[in-house]
Amino acid sequence: MRRLFANGWVVTMDDGGAEHERGWVLIDGRTIEAVGSGDEPEAEARVDLGGAVLTPGLVNTHHHLYQTLTRARAQQADLFTWLRELYPVWARIDAEAEYAAARTGLAELALSGCSTVFDHHYVFPRGRPGIFEAEVEAARELGVRLVASRGSMDLGVSDGGLPPDELVEELDAVLAETERLHGRYHENGPGAHIQVAVAPCSPFSVTGKLMEESAALARRLGLVLHTHLAETLEEETYCRELYGCSPVEYLERLGWLADDVWCAHCVHLSDGEVARFAETGTGVAHCPTSNLRLGAGVAPVRALLDAGVRVGLGVDGSASNERSDLFGEVKQALLVARGRGGGEAMTAREALRLGTRGGAEVLRRGDVGSLEPGKQADLAIWATDGLELGGADDLVAGLVFSGPHRVDRLVVGGEDVVRGGALVRADESEIARAHRVQARRFAA
Ligand SMILES: [Zn+2]
Repeated sequence: MRRLFANGWVVTMDDGGAEHERGWVLIDGRTIEAVGSGDEPEAEARVDLGGAVLTPGLVNTHHHLYQTLTRARAQQADLFTWLRELYPVWARIDAEAEYAAARTGLAELALSGCSTVFDHHYVFPRGRPGIFEAEVEAARELGVRLVASRGSMDLGVSDGGLPPDELVEELDAVLAETERLHGRYHENGPGAHIQVAVAPCSPFSVTGKLMEESAALARRLGLVLHTHLAETLEEETYCRELYGCSPVEYLERLGWLADDVWCAHCVHLSDGEVARFAETGTGVAHCPTSNLRLGAGVAPVRALLDAGVRVGLGVDGSASNERSDLFGEVKQALLVARGRGGGEAMTAREALRLGTRGGAEVLRRGDVGSLEPGKQADLAIWATDGLELGGADDLVAGLVFSGPHRVDRLVVGGEDVVRGGALVRADESEIARAHRVQARRFAA
């Protein structure tokens, strides 16, 4: 069915950054047929947006949904202290808890306008099947797109790593399980709802051999690759002591600086390393709130963008950013860029671009992230008649400056996921209740 979303401020995020202040978007089934302003095309249904802002559905490029079970822990800790406190708690994860956690995090993200979610899951305790599957079930239930990682850790504390030995896996088991999940779930091509990524956790929890073999597997299967990188100064010290080089140099040595890779954080990069990211096409998931929460620093996003690096936004896991609100992260990205580089370091529209088109480019998803003919009908509609936008003539900048906001309507592949600020396919309060039951099992 062709549906016309009319009388809205359409922010396309196409290459030229086109906006239609009194515009419309025509969708046909799952995809966008036309975008414009002026004379409206014929359609079977017309939705009057009443002056709302219409953006592409947002794209989250880094999360750990399971961490919704362990919020507000290790409140004054840096990354390594925080991890050492939380690893033993996370070791309790199983499929039932993961399902409750994923529904909660995905619901929060959907209500913040996010239609495509990457989740970096890497905690797979031995003998607990169904964790990855539980995430897929939650995403299908809510209606958002999920790129889920079969992540991994194989460098335990007795081998010089950070995680406890009980949480690390054998290399062969990791690779075999990744291949199995790829065969069962991965969808190719435009409009995919479920995809698999390969994502060993970090230089301090994974052996170089697993990093290399993960990359080889991903390249054989045509999957994208992801890991944490250069998040804190402690990580840099750790890498220099263990590997004799910086985290970025270490990654490059393993064949991991490439255009099928994106890395979370990248707070501590030298100018030369920013250039290497650009030369190799390596992408970045910028997670400003989490970086502030753990006192890690502020990533050099202005320099990355000026160099032409692909940059998207991530809310990161809920144990280091208790709120899975991607629109909030758009505003946070704007604020930290200005805190680091001054008032001209980032515009509101650049920040919004990071959360939409930028994220899609990072995930190598050419089918989402902008409102253009042929792209997926993933639309986020933002009401502009509330208290916080009174007095704002530029409603797009006003939205970003006054964020976060609950999205009024979220359409994913032509299907309503949020309407009137409420989930369409699931019950928010039921999700919250079920989550609390599971979270009790993770109490300190
Ligand atoms: Zn993370």
